[in-house]
Amino acid sequence: MAWDFSTDPDFQKQLDWMREFVREEIEPMDLVFRHPAAHVDPKSPAARAMAPLKAEVKKRGLWACHLGPDLGGKGFGQLKLGLMNEILGRSRFAPTVFGTQAPDTGNAEILARFGTEEQKAKYLQPLLDGEIVSCYSMTEPQAGADPGQFECQARLDGDQWVINGEKWFASHACVAEFLIVMAITNPDFPVHEGSTMLIVPAGTHGMDIVRNTAVGPKDEMGSGVHGYIRFTDCRIPERSRLGPVGEGFKVAQSRLGGGRIHHAMRTVGILNKAMDFMKERVVSRITKGERLADKQMVQEKIADSYTQILQFRLHVLYAAWLLDRDQAYTRDVRREISAIKAAMPGVLKDVVYRALHLHGSLGMSNETQLMDMWQYVPEMGIVDGPTEVHKIVVAKDILRGVEPSDGPFPSYHIPSRLPEARAKFAAFLD
Ligand SMILES: Cc1cc2nc3c(=O)[nH]c(=O)nc-3n(C[C@H](O)[C@H](O)[C@H](O)COP(=O)(O)OP(=O)(O)OC[C@H]3O[C@@H](n4cnc5c(N)ncnc54)[C@H](O)[C@@H]3O)c2cc1C
Repeated sequence: MAWDFSTDPDFQKQLDWMREFVREEIEPMDLVFRHPAAHVDPKSPAARAMAPLKAEVKKRGLWACHLGPDLGGKGFGQLKLGLMNEILGRSRFAPTVFGTQAPDTGNAEILARFGTEEQKAKYLQPLLDGEIVSCYSMTEPQAGADPGQFECQARLDGDQWVINGEKWFASHACVAEFLIVMAITNPDFPVHEGSTMLIVPAGTHGMDIVRNTAVGPKDEMGSGVHGYIRFTDCRIPERSRLGPVGEGFKVAQSRLGGGRIHHAMRTVGILNKAMDFMKERVVSRITKGERLADKQMVQEKIADSYTQILQFRLHVLYAAWLLDRDQAYTRDVRREISAIKAAMPGVLKDVVYRALHLHGSLGMSNETQLMDMWQYVPEMGIVDGPTEVHKIVVAKDILRGVEPSDGPFPSYHIPSRLPEARAKFAAFLD
């Protein structure tokens, strides 16, 4: 009987340390380093502030725990990672301090799986050591959710790939040492057979960042971290290919599951933080002679938030447990990752909105982090594939192999079943 909801005491000590460390040493960074790239830009003042914190994390053996031992990591497994990530989700800077920042985690995963020894030495090791950051570039201006519409192409010319086309929302391209780019290498084949992953070093001639797109309306145009990229006869050596020719889609699939589950784990952290704010607010604010906490409509908001967070958290941990069990993105794992991915914007919307609403004007202001959290609602519904696409994955899997009714009435139609049920229990019926 292995259904166990407890954490082993030694690991719990690590989690307790992390909770304190993130709250006291890292969360204050969110208040002072506001630039959108501050948490990833190795040249930002925040990077200098993070250096001693990273050293502390490495000393505790908690650095870059996302890779299994077969890929050169610590082998903590996804369940432990889930418990860690729900603490790290409280701060934009915490994943960087712990060496688990997206998209570097997923990029490290595919470099470890598909990279040549030369690529691993040049890119994987410095990435795992937190010395460089990377970018994953798949989405295009005209297509995201449907890779069948991708147009950016690479053709082999002697021993070089020549890339032409555009990419969109390539996060952290402006600070990355290299980009992993999905390009169509055989337009006569469907994308899952005709695309290839290529490693393009930053600054390669022919690769230009048209604009750094920002999320939300407030930042200056072009001041974000999501690169709109144009390739014009951009040449890279053939050996910059990551994985086999024509298998770019397969390489992409092997990293996206991890990215999605880690987003969900960190979302638990955001939800818990919103809940902490909400709890303090309702026991502090007095209106009409009593605390907000004493009003039943407020109590309903607290109870609903608690229940939704717990349901979501257990679902995330269940998906993590499945991934540890199967050690692969099996059908079961993919279904549960899609289910939590699809649930994420909904639970964020409900909980963060209640927290924001209960704070009144203060909640809407820029004097708490609630409006920052609100931004995650649409973001989590789009990043790594829109909600609809994940619901399709879940529904298709759930309906696989389900037999249609034999005749006009369903198999659970009471009048049709009654004679058989009566016959079964005839001895007990008058
Ligand atoms: C914060 C953030 C960071 C990102 N970082 C990266 C990155 O680093 N690298 C990268 O390559 N990309 C990145 N992306 C892009 C992301 O992967 C795409 O935005 C996503 O796949 C959706 O593609 P799209 O934006 O082109 O929307 P579209 O594909 O145009 O979809 C728009 C809408 O159409 C509807 N829709 C689409 N498909 C279906 C369907 N099958 N059934 C029903 N409705 C559907 C949905 O409502 C969907 O939201 C990032 C996005 C965000 C928001």
